[in-house]
Amino acid sequence: MKYIFVTGGVISSLGKGLTAASIGTLLENRGLKVALQKFDPYLNVDPGTMNPYQHGEVYVLDDGAETDLDLGHYERFTNCKLTRLNNLTSGQVYQMVLDKERRGDYLGKTVQVIPHVTDEIKNRIRLLAERSGADVVITEIGGTTGDIEGLPFLEAIREFALEVGSTNAIFVHVTLVPFIKAAGELKTKPTQQSVAKLREIGITPHILICRTERPLDRDARQKISLFCNVPFEAVIEERDVEHTIYEVPLMLQREGVDELICRLLRLETPPANMRHWEEIIRKLVSPRHRVKIGVVGKYIGLQDAYKSVYEALSHGGIANDCGVEIVKVEAEALEKNDPAVLLKDVHGILVPGGFGERGIEGKIRAAQFARERRVPYLGLCLGMQIACIEFARNVLGLEGAHSTEFKPDTPHPVIALLDEQRNVTRKGGTMRLGAQPCQLVMGTKTAELYGAFVVNERHRHRYEFNNEYRGAFERAGMRFSGLSPDGKLVEIIELADHPFFIACQFHPEFLSKPHQPHPLFKGFVAAALELQKSRHNQA
Ligand code: GLN
Repeated sequence: MKYIFVTGGVISSLGKGLTAASIGTLLENRGLKVALQKFDPYLNVDPGTMNPYQHGEVYVLDDGAETDLDLGHYERFTNCKLTRLNNLTSGQVYQMVLDKERRGDYLGKTVQVIPHVTDEIKNRIRLLAERSGADVVITEIGGTTGDIEGLPFLEAIREFALEVGSTNAIFVHVTLVPFIKAAGELKTKPTQQSVAKLREIGITPHILICRTERPLDRDARQKISLFCNVPFEAVIEERDVEHTIYEVPLMLQREGVDELICRLLRLETPPANMRHWEEIIRKLVSPRHRVKIGVVGKYIGLQDAYKSVYEALSHGGIANDCGVEIVKVEAEALEKNDPAVLLKDVHGILVPGGFGERGIEGKIRAAQFARERRVPYLGLCLGMQIACIEFARNVLGLEGAHSTEFKPDTPHPVIALLDEQRNVTRKGGTMRLGAQPCQLVMGTKTAELYGAFVVNERHRHRYEFNNEYRGAFERAGMRFSGLSPDGKLVEIIELADHPFFIACQFHPEFLSKPHQPHPLFKGFVAAALELQKSRHNQA
């Protein structure tokens, strides 16, 4: 079993997760089985209770774990199957240690960071190695070297590497080499200092991945090599990508990263075959067609809040040889401005998941616009609930129809709390979470897109469609095209008389990959392309 530990230095947001995922891609394409995991030093048990400003998107796994968005990269870039074992936070570690202490497992000893906390961390690495049966386990440590809360994790991986031996574990450090305009040069000092910080605690990186906007010239590489005690060929340039994040594996391959890793870990494999990956990039960089998709959200200004949604849209584009330009529309702006103006040029409207009342009326107006103007609509989770509220109000004439999440005393609660949720007061991990089966109704557009009878999709919600309204909705032209196997929960809706109006109570964006675009996103982009072509022909 081989281990790669990925740490980050200088600043956050360097794309450590993408780098770890890309190393995974390369190793997988050399025929190795990889497992990826992320350690997050914060004290929350999981990111499920954090808001998008703090954390960006919460990525949900099949088993219902609410995890860091880097796990989304891991799943999109590799075939590795992730579970709650693949994301460990300090909160979980301390919870385990304190549970043991209360049970008396420590037999009267003083409980300490070293060895008790570090042992739990090391156990998790071993556990994943055993359970995954992988050839290589890649562990990314969140945060930046120098953070106080990251220290136990760094200490744990130092000990672990020592225990398994130098040909079985390596450290990859992702760092920043900024270009200072006034001086007209790349600066290596931040990297030197961050490596010095690592060496202080006993970790000497084997490979330095230098994030930079300019090419890393020979001089800079030599200087970094000398001052950081890393061989010249292990100083790797990782430039900002030009078009898409899916270029990162190819960039690292050109720099020889996978070759180097295999040499250090004594892994004998053929070179990575990246042909299918190159084809994906060709379709992303120079697609035959182009469409614009309006995404109407509450956290639209944040890069990371809808990460998987944006990725899944680009995958839908790949499937149609179509570039997808995302038009980000602030939901609240639709409350003050005419949707016909803000959504004029888009060929499709997507309302993603969300919580809380802000922007709800704007989203409802977006759904109304899509339904009335026959613009393709894809609603995800809250986006389905929004579509139902809009339909109730404007098609069925149920004035004041709403979700009880936003208006507990609405006269027409078309969206209401799941029965099992009524007495739940604790917040963490208590929603309807993870993969659940959904039975598709034959003869619907949804079933046609999936080409299947039963699908498994990932959920994260508390509220659902209120069955008392099913009859009225159906009579007015809404079809319930996906239901839970017992028929009790509405999982997917579609409008019969519309080119593409589909919304689901789950999050299909978590199951889309560049080489396996999700059927709903594929169909949505295809419908948008139809609209784009017909507008083009009319013009
Ligand atoms: N707030 C809604 C619910 O809890 C939708 C959740 C979501 O979009 N993820 O049901």
